[in-house]
Amino acid sequence: PQAELQQEEIIYRSKLPDIYIPKHLPLHSYCFENISNVASRACLINGTTGKVYTHAEVELTARRVASGLNKLGIQQHQVIMLLLPNTPEFVLSFLGASFRGAIATAANPFFTPAEVSKQAKASNTRLIITQAIYVDKVKEFAEDNDVKIMCIDSCPEGCLHFSELTQADENDLPEVGIVPDDVVALPYSSGTTGLPKGVMLTHKGLVTSVAQQVDGENPNLYFHSEDVILCTLPMFHVYALNSIMLCGLRVGASILIMQKFEIRLLLELIEKYKVTIAPTVPPIVLAIAKSSETDKYDLTSVRMLKYGAAPMGKELEDAVRDKFPGAKLGQGYGMTEAGVLAMCLGFAKEPFEIKSGACGTVVRNAEMKIVDPDTGSSLPRNQAGEICIRGDQIMKGYLNEPEATARTIDKEGWLHTGDIGYIDDDEELFIVDRLKELIKYKGFQVAPAELEAMLIAHPDIIDASVVAMKDEAAGEVPVAFVVRSDKSQISEDEIKQYISKQVVFYKRISRVFFIEAIPKATSGKNLRKELRAKLATGNY
Ligand code: AMP
Repeated sequence: PQAELQQEEIIYRSKLPDIYIPKHLPLHSYCFENISNVASRACLINGTTGKVYTHAEVELTARRVASGLNKLGIQQHQVIMLLLPNTPEFVLSFLGASFRGAIATAANPFFTPAEVSKQAKASNTRLIITQAIYVDKVKEFAEDNDVKIMCIDSCPEGCLHFSELTQADENDLPEVGIVPDDVVALPYSSGTTGLPKGVMLTHKGLVTSVAQQVDGENPNLYFHSEDVILCTLPMFHVYALNSIMLCGLRVGASILIMQKFEIRLLLELIEKYKVTIAPTVPPIVLAIAKSSETDKYDLTSVRMLKYGAAPMGKELEDAVRDKFPGAKLGQGYGMTEAGVLAMCLGFAKEPFEIKSGACGTVVRNAEMKIVDPDTGSSLPRNQAGEICIRGDQIMKGYLNEPEATARTIDKEGWLHTGDIGYIDDDEELFIVDRLKELIKYKGFQVAPAELEAMLIAHPDIIDASVVAMKDEAAGEVPVAFVVRSDKSQISEDEIKQYISKQVVFYKRISRVFFIEAIPKATSGKNLRKELRAKLATGNY
């Protein structure tokens, strides 16, 4: 009978052919597989000091770090936290953890003590590698939980110094049996709903993801060993960790590390080091497009300007194109849980010229489908629905969160992204909306559930809901709808200050709207859609 006929799924694949991926290799072995060809080439360039580390030095030091971690008592599968800005030590610590069979969780050094402690506790961090200025943020947590603190610069009382790792004997590292499903990185992301969760990325997952981006025969399109890749995006986010650091290592390129984004320095460094690949996010593109200084610098070395992590308008794309006349522009689309990149830039190899506003074609060795969020059935081309991704690159799951994992990855292995988009007749993806709660401030994640929990904990607040409001500079900012308790006169400013004390700068609430009641679904869930509609129509 008709009803029993299994509806055939509509699955999209890459326009490029699948490739061989050495999934059996541990991540570090994969990254350094071709090192003999590039051993003496610059691998890491410290943009602040000019110091250069060759590929051979990075590989050797990472093995020493692994040996040092072992000596410190860090066991296989244990977690170390990198609370660091972009520095060579970040890269060495991450790779050292991989060689040790341990797991690295990176956190934003601008986090408040409460934010860092939450992540350190949830991940069961055993060692925190940081800079002296951030020690006060973690001291109490470390003391209470018997966690070691190590600094890469000076050595405040009670802390270890990074040289303990780099001076260890690499030959003392015992044989570590790493299997492809072992976790190696644990970034935090709120995903489609709720609080930030530990995203378990495995050796196999990251090897697959990097291979999808840079392996195979596409010399024009992908990074190669002659490239100088700008790294101004924060390494604690997977975009830089994976698409810059790991991809750069794999191909033997040079990675130019910028500790802090500053437009003039960025332009200066592009000229000085003849940067060829510039991965960015829309706010950086905006800063470049608006800068009056770009004429003073030679930016012609840039052959590829990439952007992603948040929506980007066509006007901005056009504005920045003039500044980089020789460069290809391309948008990527990804998500921490998707191992980072889901759509790749198919633009550099004819006939893959990508349309403005599109995110390219599905990465190789992966599948994508677009589903109707209400019925779950897959949709044909040009119809928008929830983007779902399947392949070895996606996360293993959320750490200690089986229910959240099951809500995100279904039984057939599809990762539900919470993003709305469609595939057009040329296999190109267009993102049109976001179904999930997540707010993105300049590409940084803001989880409404985290801010709502803080708001509701205030004695003067009965209920609250946080949603995104459009903002020219940041893309989106969090705003709160708040129900005050009966006699409370708490003001917008008081609420903003109350939150500001507890969170990193980009999670600060930008506006507060007082409301009689938060609209709810029968399930009790906040109807954010109605609140967003209020913002869109100015009816608040
Ligand atoms: P994260 O896990 O922090 O990388 O955030 C992933 C989310 O950022 C995605 O699920 C999207 O909502 C958003 N995002 C990433 N890339 C794009 C893009 N090119 N256009 C629009 N939104 C994007």
